Amino acid sequence: MPQDRPPSVDRLARSLDHVGLPMALLVDAARQAIAAGDPDSAVERARVISRRLLAPVINGTGVLLHTNLGRAPLSWSQNADYSNLELDLDTGGRGDRQRGIGMLLAQACGAESAMVVNNCAAAVLLTLAALAQGREALVSRGELVEIGGGFRVPDVMAWSGAKLVEVGTTNRTRWEDYAAALADPGSDAALVVQVHRSNFRLVGYTEAPRTAELASLGPPLVSNIGSGLLDSRCPWLTGGPPGWLDAEPAARQSLEAGASLVTFSGDKLFGGPQAGVIAGRADLVEACRKHPLARALRPGSLVLAALQETALAYLRRDGEAIDFWRMAVLSTEQLRSRLGAYEGLQATEASSTPGGGTLPGVEIESLGVSVAGDCTGRLRSRPRPIIARVRDDATVVDLRTVHPDDDAEVADALRQAAAQPSD
Ligand SMILES: *Cc1c(COP(=O)(O)O)cnc(C)c1O
Repeated sequence: MPQDRPPSVDRLARSLDHVGLPMALLVDAARQAIAAGDPDSAVERARVISRRLLAPVINGTGVLLHTNLGRAPLSWSQNADYSNLELDLDTGGRGDRQRGIGMLLAQACGAESAMVVNNCAAAVLLTLAALAQGREALVSRGELVEIGGGFRVPDVMAWSGAKLVEVGTTNRTRWEDYAAALADPGSDAALVVQVHRSNFRLVGYTEAPRTAELASLGPPLVSNIGSGLLDSRCPWLTGGPPGWLDAEPAARQSLEAGASLVTFSGDKLFGGPQAGVIAGRADLVEACRKHPLARALRPGSLVLAALQETALAYLRRDGEAIDFWRMAVLSTEQLRSRLGAYEGLQATEASSTPGGGTLPGVEIESLGVSVAGDCTGRLRSRPRPIIARVRDDATVVDLRTVHPDDDAEVADALRQAAAQPSD
């Protein structure tokens, strides 16, 4: 291109066709490049735009629920099709989008009824708005937590219109603290709320009533367990619950202990799409369903279909079909058996973590493959980015979070990276 006169925006944009973006975006890239006096930068500008789009990546970090990588891995595709989203196939009349999924989730966690909203924050908001608006909701000072991404329990409670009544202290809250608040003549408490401290641990001189004790206080107990473990016995895993699950609260056991409702995320330990589940007493779920906010927080058919797939896998007791669980329980021997695909590369011990703000401090023994130096930038810049970690001046890919089908691609990428100087 002649350097004295800038090229036409149109011609430059058309020369970027291979980047694979719609012409309107290529024109933007071309225009910016010309305005910057650097037409040659147009290709890079177009690539920058294209890398902002949602696209699959390979997770080599060993963090099973990686918040930046969409938490639980999810494979889902659907042909363009109508569905019976809100059609009752028996009567031909208007149906309820929550009915099928509600039935499956209720069955899976032993609840009378269940419904789905967009995420767990929405589940908490809706539950409080529907059941405690303008009235008191009791919560321990030790559970006024921030979960991440700005989800603060006191803020959500305030937005719901419930009046937050704090009981106990940061480290110790007793049954008597709740009972005293309820005995206050001015108290019109509608709910007791229990919030799982998902992402941090309180150790040392601590005390908190058990779920069954909180349930005995009188008002319905809403237990926000957050992470979405359905059943602490993990009947979907042939080997039973892994040791690292520890004392993670589970939906079925919380309900058995007397919680009136549980709320949890769909994309943490549940292993499904982003969603929030409200499960428990039928009359309370019904009140949530009827609240005007339910409409604003309702998920679409894509999410419901993916969640249904996950719930059906639980009911078939088929943990293999739930990618999070399939990966989470892989033994190091199973991981080692894949090393053949990584010939010529260095195998190394690794430790995976559940991630997603669940089970803080838990490490799962794993196996990685490493190359010297920091190649993470180069791995990220591949057409299908590979996200790896740097440890002791080496780049490590944890095999636990890599699908076996991707082993050959990851091995190739690491061999190429090893053959080049570090970033
Ligand atoms: C993760 C979590 C939330 C927020 O869940 P989202 O699905 O991300 O909205 C709320 N409460 C608890 C206890 C959690 O663990």
